[in-house]
Amino acid sequence: MSRARLSEEYEALRATVEAFAHDVVAPVIGEHYENRTFPYEVVAQMGDLGLFGLPFPEEYGGQGGDYFALCLAIEELARVDSSVAITLEAAVSLGAMPIYLYGTEEQRRRWLPRLTSGTMLGAFGLTEPGGGSDAGATRTTAVLDGDEWVINGSKAFITNSGTALTGLVTVTAVTSTTAQGRKEISSIIVPSGTPGLTVEPAYSKVGWNASDTHGLSFDDVRVPAANLLGERGRGYAQFLRILDEGRIAISALAVGLAQGCVDECVRYAGEREAFGRPIGEHQAIAFTIADMETRTHVARTAYHDAGARMLAGEPFKHEAAMAKLYSSEIAVTNAREATQVFGGYGYMNEYPVARFWRDSKILEIGEGTSEVQRMLIARHLGVGS
Ligand SMILES: Cc1cc2nc3c(=O)[nH]c(=O)nc-3n(C[C@H](O)[C@H](O)[C@H](O)COP(=O)(O)OP(=O)(O)OC[C@H]3O[C@@H](n4cnc5c(N)ncnc54)[C@H](O)[C@@H]3O)c2cc1C
Repeated sequence: MSRARLSEEYEALRATVEAFAHDVVAPVIGEHYENRTFPYEVVAQMGDLGLFGLPFPEEYGGQGGDYFALCLAIEELARVDSSVAITLEAAVSLGAMPIYLYGTEEQRRRWLPRLTSGTMLGAFGLTEPGGGSDAGATRTTAVLDGDEWVINGSKAFITNSGTALTGLVTVTAVTSTTAQGRKEISSIIVPSGTPGLTVEPAYSKVGWNASDTHGLSFDDVRVPAANLLGERGRGYAQFLRILDEGRIAISALAVGLAQGCVDECVRYAGEREAFGRPIGEHQAIAFTIADMETRTHVARTAYHDAGARMLAGEPFKHEAAMAKLYSSEIAVTNAREATQVFGGYGYMNEYPVARFWRDSKILEIGEGTSEVQRMLIARHLGVGS
């Protein structure tokens, strides 16, 4: 593969996660995927390795690293399997990060040590059955009754919301509406097991089959007023920031999947023979793999650039949107082409490229669809609506 230029520390982390994905994830993930089971034993070892604490300070149980380190880990996991990679991405970027960025000291101390160790998973409930792209159209409500919020509504497609490790979901809810009909949206932490919170049965998905996704419904769910996360009415702004960062992480995940396609194809092209020679000696196959590698390298460069801007405290939204858009689309292309390189075997679930193909499409949808990314990029240029 084309190696990115990384500092010694980042490279050591990348190599550690690469070995972990190869030695621990690869041998068991196919069976979990087939049986649609959550890989608890893998997640426990990811916790032992410190992956859930990568971007958090040590005082909260973290590793004292940064968000780019998290992205490198996600990329290496996704080279082997996307379910495990999205479990980490959602737990850290969507579950723990909002509490770290917006929580009170008490909320941080209460939740972060378990979230950063991976012994507890947090979820982020933004999308509703009525729509995800238009997140401002939130219908879930939270009404203050004495010193409690009373929450009613529902959320759709929430990652990590129904595992035995799930400890909380942070939800966005309308906490008041102005006379002009403008919604005030706030974020509220709902601990798992709160009466009135129902975790719906797991979805039957096309891919990400070893990751956990449920709908949630809230029926007069009461939580303390102190569970408000950040300032009242700032929920919309908070989750936009969370999603900006998340796009870099999803881009890393897409790059990992795209690289996994290259890895598998290089190996297979040397082994499989047709017309008396390895298929890799046929130029059509060799050029297909060369194009896959080139796209992956360019996409990696894009997410590294967005990550570097973010770490430097510079504006990075535009670059993050471009990285997410490009990486997710090339991941779909690479997965389609990898399946083609494998011929009939590529259509068999036991081959990783079949899993990559099924896992790739969601990358163009989750954490902002390709259309939403194009809207953001166009707006930055002063065109579009
Ligand atoms: C497996 C999985 C895991 C997920 N995990 C989470 C999670 O943990 N937390 C969470 O909150 N959400 C999660 N989601 C939800 C995901 O973020 C949404 O599905 C996504 O944002 C799109 O929202 P939607 O499905 O409601 O589609 P819609 O918003 O209904 O969009 C439908 C189509 O219309 C297009 N569209 C919408 N508006 C416009 C416009 N103005 N211009 C042009 N095109 C437009 C969209 O791009 C899309 O193609 C998950 C989804 C899946 C499938």
